[in-house]
Amino acid sequence: VAGLPVPTELPPPALSFEFFPPRTETLEQQLWACVRRLEPLAPRFVSVTYGAGGSTQERTHATVARLVRETSLTPAAHLTCVGASRGEVDDVARRYWEAGVRHIVALRGDAPAGEAGYVPHPDGYAYAADLVAGLRRIGDFEISVAAYPETHPTASSPDTDLDNLKRKIDAGATRAITQYFFDTEVFLRFLDRAHAAGITVPIVPGILPVSNFTQVRKFSGMCGTTVPGWMGRLFEGLDDDPETRRMVAAALAAEQVRLLQANGVDEFHFYTLNRADLTYAIAHILGVRPQPGALP
Ligand code: FAD
Repeated sequence: VAGLPVPTELPPPALSFEFFPPRTETLEQQLWACVRRLEPLAPRFVSVTYGAGGSTQERTHATVARLVRETSLTPAAHLTCVGASRGEVDDVARRYWEAGVRHIVALRGDAPAGEAGYVPHPDGYAYAADLVAGLRRIGDFEISVAAYPETHPTASSPDTDLDNLKRKIDAGATRAITQYFFDTEVFLRFLDRAHAAGITVPIVPGILPVSNFTQVRKFSGMCGTTVPGWMGRLFEGLDDDPETRRMVAAALAAEQVRLLQANGVDEFHFYTLNRADLTYAIAHILGVRPQPGALP
């Protein structure tokens, strides 16, 4: 593992940003302020999540459609296949195609809260690989899929999970975006394993700047991301000090990204949580500057 390079010594990386569809008027304003602040950084694409079980179908569509109409950004719509028939999922995908959306993040999704485990819909796409194949029949979409450097929580083994990623790529996915992780070596080892398995499409690390450590620790337990002990010590004593927490978070994420860059990674996907400040600061440290042509 190579050490940290001097900041700005390396060429600026390609970035993409993830947003979630807002639930209230206040959150809506927060999202669009975030979009406007990040737009001049000319990300490769911005993605909009799909609520658990497709619960935000209309809001995701409305947010993506507004991005198409009102910004210079290239949107990617997340789409899950849990709890829906193939026909229903295909209709959503066709609506995106007709609205000019050409990039889908294709996911399986999770069983609704309270249900024991995932059960495929009887007439649905069972897994993300099946969804990718279905999308291919609808349009010439760019398709991104999920990858798990620490293995998907319900996968029977790291190898079967990697086989699944390979199936998604073989079905037509053009990029994998990873679950967030904090141990950089875990990602680099995963990348080696993916390359050895013959995966050649870009595997873009998902970066989560940690502004609320308590929440992130809780959420990480559910999605299988290890929170190293040193992180707890880093955020110690800052529960009531959000301003210092944000500065620590920016330093931490910038360091993680620079370490990945030093090891040859040149594309990053940021989980923005609809807040621009951390992502903007980290992008700046990486040498990414507003592009005149991309100004709103
Ligand atoms: P799959 O690739 O289908 O894999 C799911 C599990 O099933 C894995 O354990 C896999 O190994 C196993 N598996 C696959 N095929 C088979 C088979 N044939 N037989 C048996 N087991 C199999 N969720 C949302 O609801 N909305 C979102 O917008 C969203 N965005 C996300 C974005 C990213 C970048 C990531 C990493 C995750 C996102 N998720 C989202 C979460 C995702 O829906 C869950 O992690 C879900 O549990 C798995 O989805 P997948 O697409 O990885 O599933």
